[in-house]
Amino acid sequence: MSALQIRQVLCHEDNYAVIVHDPESGETLVVDTPQAAPIREALEAEGWRLTHILNTHHHHDHVEGNAELKELYGAKVHGPAHDKNRIPGLDAALRDGDGVSLGAHRIDVIAVPGHTLGSLAYFICGENILFAGDTLFSLGCGRMFEGGAEQMWHSLDLLRHLPEDTRMYCGHEYTLSNAAFALSVEPGNAALQKRAEEVRKLREKGEPTLPVTMAEEKATNPFLRPESEEIRKSLGLHALENWRVFGELRQMKDNFKA
Ligand SMILES: [Zn+2]
Repeated sequence: MSALQIRQVLCHEDNYAVIVHDPESGETLVVDTPQAAPIREALEAEGWRLTHILNTHHHHDHVEGNAELKELYGAKVHGPAHDKNRIPGLDAALRDGDGVSLGAHRIDVIAVPGHTLGSLAYFICGENILFAGDTLFSLGCGRMFEGGAEQMWHSLDLLRHLPEDTRMYCGHEYTLSNAAFALSVEPGNAALQKRAEEVRKLREKGEPTLPVTMAEEKATNPFLRPESEEIRKSLGLHALENWRVFGELRQMKDNFKA
């Protein structure tokens, strides 16, 4: 199989849509549609016709372009069955363990409740590419709008067990501000210090900080590191389960001012 071609498209201020083209079959998908125009322009620049829309969750800034792009290209809309009435133009309602095909490639659907109850992540098997939506960000994670800490931790724990070389894309460019919080709870983490510096330089040049590998996230993202002694010490939490440490971290981040 020839390699998939990937374009990350910045929409609005800090939303990402990610376009994946399979040259073998000519099929093209987009993960989330924060805004139709920049996605359409990116497709036109490449001469690709959109065949699939994959939504990670129902929030407006992830589905706003569905109707226009579906109308324009006849693309089939895939999204969480849980939110079937909140995903515009939904054709295929997906559940955990379902699969989507892009040419000969198989995409696994992983339920990751927490940010919203219906949130889905998509994983391109073999290529090891993850679309985490607003569940996992680089150096951070989504707010828990609908789910609870134990549930969201379980979702993040599933994602951190994907292969180390998994390349992760997510719904927003939040990495620089996430780095400030991460450093506040684990200042002695050398891998985090290095990543924060790299992120600062990328953002100065206006470049994306994504994708990032799962190995790197596991070494640097506090929300994937509740076992860290330094984090537990920063929080004054010792003999607690991982999900409780995660929950405390999430609450601290909600109130964090850099
Ligand atoms: Zn969201």
